[in-house]
Amino acid sequence: MDSRIFRDAMGRFATGVTVVTTQVDDETHGMTANAFMSVSLDPKLVTISIDHNAKMYSQIKQSQQFAVSILSDEQMDVSMHFAGQKENPAAVQFDFVSGIPVIRDALTAVVCNVIEFYEVGDHTLFIGEVLEIKLTDGNPLAFFGGKYGSYQPV
Ligand code: FAD
Ligand code: NAD
Repeated sequence: MDSRIFRDAMGRFATGVTVVTTQVDDETHGMTANAFMSVSLDPKLVTISIDHNAKMYSQIKQSQQFAVSILSDEQMDVSMHFAGQKENPAAVQFDFVSGIPVIRDALTAVVCNVIEFYEVGDHTLFIGEVLEIKLTDGNPLAFFGGKYGSYQPV
C-alpha cells in the first residue's frame, strides 16, 4: 500500500498537538508529536509513539523520563519549531516540573517515568507512568489533514 494513502487516512483523525520533552546530561530535547494517548486511570498511564529515526528515540531510551505538553492554539510556531518545519528559537520557553522541562503556557504538561516500551514497526511505544500534571486554561491547537487549525465546539 502507498504510504501517502495511509497518511491521508490517518490524517483524517483530528488530533491535538503536543511537544514531547526530555533531558539527558542537562541537555533538553523537544519534539512535536500527535501520537499521544491516555492509557490507564489506575495506575495513571499514557503512551507516545516515537519514530526510530527521531533523535527523541535515543534520548528517551537514555533518560527513561519524558513530559508531554499539550499545545494551545497560540503555539503553532512552537509546534512548527519542534517538528523542524520552521525554526523559531524565540518561541521556545521551558518551565521545569519535577526537574523535567515542559513547554511554558501549554494547556497541560504531564511528566512521566517510562515503565515499559514496545518496539512496533518503525516506531517505539513508550508507556509513561504519570508523576505530575500541570494545567493551564486556553484552547487547543488542532491537526487535521496535515494542517493546523483550532477547535470549534458545535
Ligand atoms: P530534531 O529534528 O533534531 O529536533 C526537532 C526540532 O526541535 C529542531 O528544530 C530542533 O532545533 C528543535 N529543538 C529540540 N530541542 C530543542 C531545545 N532544547 N531548544 C530549542 N529547540 C530545540 N514524529 C514521531 O515520531 N511521533 C509523532 O507522534 C509525531 N507527531 C507529529 C505531529 C505533527 C503535527 C508533526 C508536524 C510532526 C510529528 N512528528 C512525529 C514528526 C517529528 O516532529 C519530526 O520528525 C521531528 O523533527 C523529529 O525530531 P527529532 O527528535 O528527530 O529532533
Ligand atoms: P501527514 O499527512 O504526514 O500526517 C497525517 C497523519 O499520518 C499523522 O497525523 C499521522 O497519524 C500519520 N503519519 C504521518 N507520518 C507518519 C509516520 N512516519 N509514522 C506513523 N504515522 C504517520 O502530515 P504532514 O503535515 O505531512 O506531517 C509533517 C511531518 O511530520 C511528516 O514528515 C510526517 O511523516 C511527520 N509526522 C509523523 C508522525 C508520526 O507518528 N511519526 C505523525 C505526524 C506527522
